[in-house]
Amino acid sequence: MPKPSTSNSVLRNIPSVDELLRSKTARRIVGEAGATHAAELARRALDAVRRDVSESRDIGSSRQGLLEKAAERMAEAWQLDRDTRLQGVINCTGVVIHTNLGRAPLSHEAQLAIREVSGYCTLEYDLRTGRRGKRAPSIEDLITELTGAEAAIVVNNCAAAAFFVLTVFAAGGEVAVSRGELVEIGGDFRVPDILAESGAILREVGTTNRTKLDDYAEALNDEVRVILRVHPSNYRIIGFTASPSLAELAELAHKNGILLYEDIGSGALIDLSGYGVVGEPVVSDSIAAGADLVTFSGDKLLGGPQAGIIAGRRELIDRLRRHPLYRALRVDKLILSALEATLSAYRIGVERTIPVIGMLALRKEDIHERAANLLSQITQGETGTLEIEIVSGSSAVGGGAAPSVDLDTYLLALSHPTLSAEGVERALRSSTPPVISRIENERVLLDLRTVAPAEEPVLIEALRSIT
Ligand SMILES: *Cc1c(COP(=O)(O)O)cnc(C)c1O
Repeated sequence: MPKPSTSNSVLRNIPSVDELLRSKTARRIVGEAGATHAAELARRALDAVRRDVSESRDIGSSRQGLLEKAAERMAEAWQLDRDTRLQGVINCTGVVIHTNLGRAPLSHEAQLAIREVSGYCTLEYDLRTGRRGKRAPSIEDLITELTGAEAAIVVNNCAAAAFFVLTVFAAGGEVAVSRGELVEIGGDFRVPDILAESGAILREVGTTNRTKLDDYAEALNDEVRVILRVHPSNYRIIGFTASPSLAELAELAHKNGILLYEDIGSGALIDLSGYGVVGEPVVSDSIAAGADLVTFSGDKLLGGPQAGIIAGRRELIDRLRRHPLYRALRVDKLILSALEATLSAYRIGVERTIPVIGMLALRKEDIHERAANLLSQITQGETGTLEIEIVSGSSAVGGGAAPSVDLDTYLLALSHPTLSAEGVERALRSSTPPVISRIENERVLLDLRTVAPAEEPVLIEALRSIT
């Protein structure tokens, strides 16, 4: 233990907040963080230095040395603050719809559309009459055209859509749901909970693995207002199973004068089985089978911004539009513009315009070619000591869609003679922009399926800087 007097004399050398704020580092931080927040960071940095001194950690004792130490601490604290801000990343995980990484990356057109309406726009203004207009009527046209539904409305996300439908059409009554569909989709979306929140009472039907049409028929007492079918998304019941077709359920519902509502969550606007994505319902099929209302997400397989779309019969959609809750659940101009641009792409051709579809459509040979090309560019430069090879593997659809589907891919497998896999992963995650990878069997794996070609140069830089 050092003598307290030593520590006391060092403590006297610790700079004041004002002194620290006059340093070059601190002046830069003031410019980025503002004077008030920078002063707070300076105070925190000085507290840390004071702690180090009194715990007699060897941090030097000269006035200049302590000032530099404090500036360093302040820069670290500011960096930590900045790390928590919302920022773009390069997704090398191979999970196409990665909920933690913001789900569907927006198309170029959708990004431009957001920019265009960022200022004033025709959100509720009809250019033809010069008067107040409907909110983005073209979106409803696009959805009805693409799904075959009579009408549609857009809310904040699919959870909001389900809550809205159940509140308006089932509150105070009962909702019949198969026991096999009482699932948790992830991120706290649980079918029984949403039902309870909406004020509807759950009427469980059938068993976990088998629910027949007769089970539904028996469950329909006078209180049941809605038959709810839920697409189990990231969960599958396989083996000895049974459930009636949507058309059979529609017939039963309508014979009893109640609604058939299907929550398909991800769903898809077009059949994606050609890309190996099987088992995902197509919205137009559900509408054609007789569902009165269908809800699905905007940012899953559809490939747009976060939104929940409700499509179905006009009189039902009109009731939703007039309901006071709509005001609380509706989306803003930025989302509407991005959604409109995304939906418009479905008229023209989606593979080249919508990133999610383009990524699903990539063949493993295409990915191998890009991986080999990228690898050659790295070995041409200064590779440091990072070793990279190309191995085969699989990508995932993600977003609770097609959980049993693996898409064949090729991966860049990284290993390092001195750094652990965790060390390499962390270094990539700390680069600018951050590169997000995964670790398997002690190796860091990068999947180019989810990397836009335009991002490759930055990825190469990040890899080159690991030495
Ligand atoms: C994903 C999903 C939801 C929730 O959708 P969000 O858009 O994330 O709110 C609801 N229902 C099903 C069936 C889903 O797959």
